Amino acid sequence: MRHTPATVHLLWTGGWDSTYRLLYLLREGKQVQPHYIIDPHRPSSRHELRAMEAISECINKETEKLSGTLLPTEISEKAASVRSNEIEEAYNAIIKKMYIGDQYMWLADYCETRGIEGMELGVENIPGNNVTKAVNLVEYPYSKIFGKFRFPILSTNKLEMKEWSEATGTLSIMELTWFCHKPTAGAEPCGRCGPCEAAIKEGMGYRFPLTSRIRYQLRIVPRLRSFAKKFPGFYYLLYSLKHSK
Ligand SMILES: [Zn+2]
Repeated sequence: MRHTPATVHLLWTGGWDSTYRLLYLLREGKQVQPHYIIDPHRPSSRHELRAMEAISECINKETEKLSGTLLPTEISEKAASVRSNEIEEAYNAIIKKMYIGDQYMWLADYCETRGIEGMELGVENIPGNNVTKAVNLVEYPYSKIFGKFRFPILSTNKLEMKEWSEATGTLSIMELTWFCHKPTAGAEPCGRCGPCEAAIKEGMGYRFPLTSRIRYQLRIVPRLRSFAKKFPGFYYLLYSLKHSK
């Protein structure tokens, strides 16, 4: 892994938001080191890896439009346990106050272990969303987790990203992205997981087959999650039971 000051470290998932950021940086002539963490509990990994491979091939053919350097993606398995006690303690302190997905704890630990400062995360600004609140809080325990990252696309949304990619002739690359965490056996987006829900709500419904859009209308899990967001104590209890704390 190269760590020159000019290298931008980016968590790349093969999804719409992080791919937009990747293309944006490459168009600015930057050298980008993408990172991808395989989560064995997430059935979408092979779809994401395949999307990233197809996107990388297209990027390498578009050297005029995308003049920056795309370094080979650092791919690693999610660690068996969080190595930094301080990061785990900070995460536990946060979720007693508000629901935040544990991926931020794992990512902070990943950065700390590898000495990466300012890893870019493709997180959108969603008003009222807990992550949006947490990234703007500078004190402990938020600083211990979110202080490790940069959030360059907080002020944009999916339709603005689409407009940018149309204007720069990169929409065909953006349409190779994958955004579902729980694809069906037939490799269709589920329409029910968090990323599918966000994509449909933000005007990306045109990329979903009809069956996925029907599943979106019938979804139940996101309602449970929004319940958990309103009652952080309930989420902490579930999380503690799952991890036997
Ligand atoms: Zn999905």
